[in-house]
Amino acid sequence: MDKLAVGGLNFDNVTMEQALERALELIEAHAHSYIVTPNAEIGQMALKDPAFRRVLNGAALMLPDGIGVVLGSKILGTPLKGKVAGCDFAERLVPLLAERGHSLFLFGSKEGVAQAAAQNLKESSPNLHICGTQNGYFQDDGEIVDAINAAHPDVLFVCLGAPKQEYWMARNAERLDVGLMIGLGGSLDVMAG
Ligand code: UDP
Repeated sequence: MDKLAVGGLNFDNVTMEQALERALELIEAHAHSYIVTPNAEIGQMALKDPAFRRVLNGAALMLPDGIGVVLGSKILGTPLKGKVAGCDFAERLVPLLAERGHSLFLFGSKEGVAQAAAQNLKESSPNLHICGTQNGYFQDDGEIVDAINAAHPDVLFVCLGAPKQEYWMARNAERLDVGLMIGLGGSLDVMAG
């Protein structure tokens, strides 16, 4: 993958189609990997926080969520092809999961939101297999990891907001039996409508 460093973050210089293709490869590889989608605000956070930067740079794929990152990349002389917003990426990925029979677990947001998002996703992609939902307000990682592992998802959407979701994915990656995780901020709220 063609990587471009913007403000200390190693973005993948990809189009939406290339990002989707890569995500499908990562699911097949089942290698405990995660995708992050930083916007300019998260980029600012990472500039001041080396630990967060390391977690972001540990992602298998980093997508520029927003025109701010793309403009920044141009100003810094390392122009990215364009934005690949997390929410749009997820929306495009879901029908591909349905087509291929990959299961999806929705994790994050307030009680009831992930279930509502699941219902809406099933309406637009009736063949989609949603193997579990879990709200994002919890005390103990272990219980959540056990619940997710019991469902064996091919894909896990992690929607806890930044930087919480990125730290959560990096911290739990090794013990999670999932094909691929994607940190998607407030996307479940959007999908729940
Ligand atoms: N959230 C959560 N657990 C927490 C804190 C936040 O599940 O401990 C959820 C919150 O309900 C919201 C999402 O994380 O659905 C954060 O959305 P926001 O739009 O603030 O995130 P961004 O996309 O800006 O990272």
